[in-house]
Amino acid sequence: MSDFSTVPANIKALDDEYVLGTYGRLPVEFVRASGAVLTDSEGNDYLDFLGGIGCASLGHCHPAVVAALKEQADKLWQVGNYFYVENRGEVANGLSTLLSRITDESGHDTGSAAVTWKTFFANSGAEANEGAIKLARRWGEVKLDGAFGVVSAKKSFHGRTLATLAATGQDRFHETFRPMPAGFASVDLNDIDALRSAVENPTPECGPVCAVMLECVQGEGGVWPAGYDYLRDVADLCREKNLMLIIDEVQTGFFRCGSPFSFQRAGIVPDIVTMAKGIADGFPMGAVAARTKVAGLMRPGDHGSTFGGNALAVAAARATIDTLRAEDMGEHVIAVGKHLRHRLQAMPHVTEVRGRGLMRGAQLDVPIACQLVDEGLAEGLVLNHIGDSILRFLPPLVITREQVDEGMDKLEALIRKLA
Ligand SMILES: *Cc1c(COP(=O)(O)O)cnc(C)c1O
Repeated sequence: MSDFSTVPANIKALDDEYVLGTYGRLPVEFVRASGAVLTDSEGNDYLDFLGGIGCASLGHCHPAVVAALKEQADKLWQVGNYFYVENRGEVANGLSTLLSRITDESGHDTGSAAVTWKTFFANSGAEANEGAIKLARRWGEVKLDGAFGVVSAKKSFHGRTLATLAATGQDRFHETFRPMPAGFASVDLNDIDALRSAVENPTPECGPVCAVMLECVQGEGGVWPAGYDYLRDVADLCREKNLMLIIDEVQTGFFRCGSPFSFQRAGIVPDIVTMAKGIADGFPMGAVAARTKVAGLMRPGDHGSTFGGNALAVAAARATIDTLRAEDMGEHVIAVGKHLRHRLQAMPHVTEVRGRGLMRGAQLDVPIACQLVDEGLAEGLVLNHIGDSILRFLPPLVITREQVDEGMDKLEALIRKLA
């Protein structure tokens, strides 16, 4: 541990005393941010390779989003979903367009599909996934004799509510909080036979299956990508069995992986897609989009959210989505993401670099990931670790090649020093 800290004593004391201790905090108080740079309370700048945990898609405080929020803040915040408000339909329409893009396996845009998506607005990724599970169960009720089981992948992460925890294929998250809700099972990623068998012979805890739920690149589990052939096999299996294919794009969506959504690189079209992190440049919002065949089964009263789709959130989301599209973010992410991968691959003690676009994981052969995060701060770097030997990178998508080089030069020096 380094003894680096720039947190004012009163800020630290109040937080440590009164905020529930579910997070270990790093010793910095951030007060401002712009693009891919964070500034602390002493005026020090940091290059941000975490991006508000993948949320600051357009970069911190992007002027278009700031302007949209300021304008909306003076007009209207919250009336509830009984009424029409500006931007809600526009955002849903923008999402339908973005979800319908077609790309090649490298993520380059090649056209669009004639698919309509209908969106329910929530406030977080977990809530979006709760909505997806309810949509799938409604599908099971109507189309599959009441089947309700959801099969997900080991090492997945779908959220912290009880149902999304049950869908999360990592036992360590379940342990303290049993019993988990029934109706869930998980199998190894990239093993289509294991998935087929879980669907055809469901465990008693899972029950008859109505849906498969996957991330195309597992984020919190350590940046583990699903193969394109595997994803195509999964889509075929779901079609064969009439199951809902739910793709969790909470972390991978909004050009994080180069294409607008990561499933597009595999050339598949899911039935239900969940979104959150990058959707509104860091303003809290979640969304679940569904194709009309399942969306049409939901009736008034089947689902709801008090804050979901409030006027501030949809204003921020509209500005974010319009700007991401106007700035051709996909091509930038593909180019800079490739550069980040090359820089990481060339570092000592990095044995593997996984992920796509600007979602990358570096596997280390020495258990120094936590120390790199701690010491990175003193060097003006915000890094993130998963366990003791994986570094995860989720920088704002606007990060430049030069900023990547500056950050990677510092990281390389740190690895040499600590390993
Ligand atoms: C972060 C994340 C979630 C949970 O989102 P919250 O907004 O924290 O509820 C769900 N799925 C994936 C893939 C995520 O990365």
